[in-house]
Amino acid sequence: MSDSEDCLFCSIIKGEIPSTTVYEDESTYAFEDIHPKAKVHVLVVPKRHYASVDELASEDPAELAHIVGVAQGIAKERYNGAYRLVFNTGLDAGQTVFHVHAHVLTGEVLDE
Ligand code: 5GP
Ligand code: ZN
Repeated sequence: MSDSEDCLFCSIIKGEIPSTTVYEDESTYAFEDIHPKAKVHVLVVPKRHYASVDELASEDPAELAHIVGVAQGIAKERYNGAYRLVFNTGLDAGQTVFHVHAHVLTGEVLDE
């Protein structure tokens, strides 16, 4: 799956909706979450559209590993290397945007 017309994050990746860029390369985009739940709350997404981390893991596991590396880099740059990585998967788990995204939470001591 490449990109999806009615997808908020595809629109953000294309620059049709503004976002604050944290990191970008050929395959991956990272931007500030609009409603941060930690001092640093960054979303890391593949530029290609996959609905969920399950889909990404089966269709492009190298990109999933790359996303983890990008998260690690953000945590090293913005904090001391500690970070929480969250993939909400499915409606019942709180997924609201169906373009896979890693929530990278860091920048402070996090609540359990
Ligand atoms: P989910 O609930 O799907 O795991 O996470 C979606 C995330 O996207 C939420 O944390 C929400 O704050 C963030 N979000 C929703 N709309 C926008 C937007 O237009 N711009 C940015 N930067 N983040 C958004
Ligand atoms: Zn998308």
